[in-house]
Amino acid sequence: MKICQRCGCENDDDAVVCKKCGFEFADISEDTFKWILLKTASNEFEGDIIKNLLEENGVVVMMKRPGPGYSLSSPFANPLLGSAGQWNIFVANDDLERASEILEAQLSEEEEDGTNEDDDEGDK
Ligand SMILES: [Zn+2]
Repeated sequence: MKICQRCGCENDDDAVVCKKCGFEFADISEDTFKWILLKTASNEFEGDIIKNLLEENGVVVMMKRPGPGYSLSSPFANPLLGSAGQWNIFVANDDLERASEILEAQLSEEEEDGTNEDDDEGDK
């Protein structure tokens, strides 16, 4: 028996997510591949940029529209999403930390003046 940390619901021992609230049980994910939501892009273009950036750095990325049943042919299918173009960007749990660092580095780069010919990555 496993008690959900979020809602207190009782789940089976081998449950991956809470059957009631969807909470992900982290303690069993040590060596289990899992997609983690890294960031929500405001449109597909932004999502593609992030995806390419991460893939260039060897991070496996999955992009997915939030919300079930969304379809391009019915733009009003999910009005809660607001602008119809949002994309969720998922990375593997193992890559989450690295992906966050890559994104942060990219963001701080964009604030500078675009003259970034020197890529001095700190080697470990
Ligand atoms: Zn729960």
